[in-house]
Amino acid sequence: MTRVIYVNGRYLPYHDAKVHVEDRGFQLADAVYEVIEVSDNSLVDATRHLTRLWRSLSELSISPPMSEPALRHVMGQTIRRNRVRNGLVYLQVSRGESPRDFLFPDPPVPPTLVCLARATIPAQVDQRAETGIHIITMPETRWKRCDIKTVMLLPACLAKQQAHAQSASEAWFVDAEGLITEGASSNAWIVDRSGRLLTRPLDNTILPGITRRTVMDTAASLGLVVEESPFTVAEALDAAEAFITSATNTVMPVIMIDGQRISSGTPGPLCRQLRRSFARVAEHSPVGYVPSKLENQAFAP
Ligand code: PMP
Repeated sequence: MTRVIYVNGRYLPYHDAKVHVEDRGFQLADAVYEVIEVSDNSLVDATRHLTRLWRSLSELSISPPMSEPALRHVMGQTIRRNRVRNGLVYLQVSRGESPRDFLFPDPPVPPTLVCLARATIPAQVDQRAETGIHIITMPETRWKRCDIKTVMLLPACLAKQQAHAQSASEAWFVDAEGLITEGASSNAWIVDRSGRLLTRPLDNTILPGITRRTVMDTAASLGLVVEESPFTVAEALDAAEAFITSATNTVMPVIMIDGQRISSGTPGPLCRQLRRSFARVAEHSPVGYVPSKLENQAFAP
C-alpha cells in the first residue's frame, strides 16, 4: 500500500498528493519518467536510470528539478516512508504548471517532480518467470522519438489492453519493414537456433532499456554472444528462446507469440541463466546511499 508520495518538496498522504490541472504533464504529456527496481532494500542500476532521466530531460529542454544526490535522497525517503523493501520507485518530471499553450513557458517555470514507491512480491514475478509469458505482435503506432522515456504512453496502453484481451501480457511492436522494435513496456530479445542472443540496436525506434544494457553485461560475463541486430516476427517464431527485459521483470521468458509456442513452449536455458546471473552484474545501491563522488555537490531537496 502506498502511504506517502513526494510532490514538489513535500511528502504527502496518498490522497492529498496532487498536481495542478494545468500541469503540462497532465495536459500535454510534456513529462518524462523512470521506474527503478528496489530489491532487498537496494536500488537496482540507479546510476544508469538517473543518467537516462537526465538525458530524457535534456532532449526536451526540461531543467532537472534538483541535483542527482538530492534526488537519490528523495527516493530513499519515499522508499523508507512507504516501508518498501522490494518493489519499485517511480519518478516523474514534467515541464511544470503553466496556462495551456503549445509553446514552452517563457520564462521557464519550475519543473514538477513526483516520486512514489510501491511494494511488489518478488515470489510472484519469479513464479511468472518459471512459467513464462504469452505475447502478441502488432503494428508499430508510436512516434519517432521512442528513445526518450516520456509519459506519452497511450499507444502502450492500447497495445497492453489488446494483449490482455487475448490472454497475453505484453505486445511487441512491428515496424513497416516487418522487424520487431520492442515491447510496449520492455525490450525484445530472441536466441536464434545457433545460440546467438539478438536484440534490436539502439536508435530512435526503441527505449535504451537499462535492463537491456545490464543483460548485455551479464551475457558478456557468461561468455555469451550478443548481436545487436533486428529480427522479424518469423525469426522470433522460429527462435530457440525469446524473452523480454525491463526493470520490474529483469529477464522474463516468452513461451508463446501470437498463439504459437516458441520451441518447446517452456523457458529456455540461456534465458534462465541470464535471469539467475542478472543480480550479480547489476549495480545495487543501498537505499539512501549517495556515491561519494556526488556527496559534495549542491544538495537542494
Ligand atoms: N521499452 C519500453 C517502451 C519501456 O517502457 C520499458 C520499461 N520502461 C523498457 C523498454 C525497458 O526499460 P528498462 O529496462 O529501463 O526498464
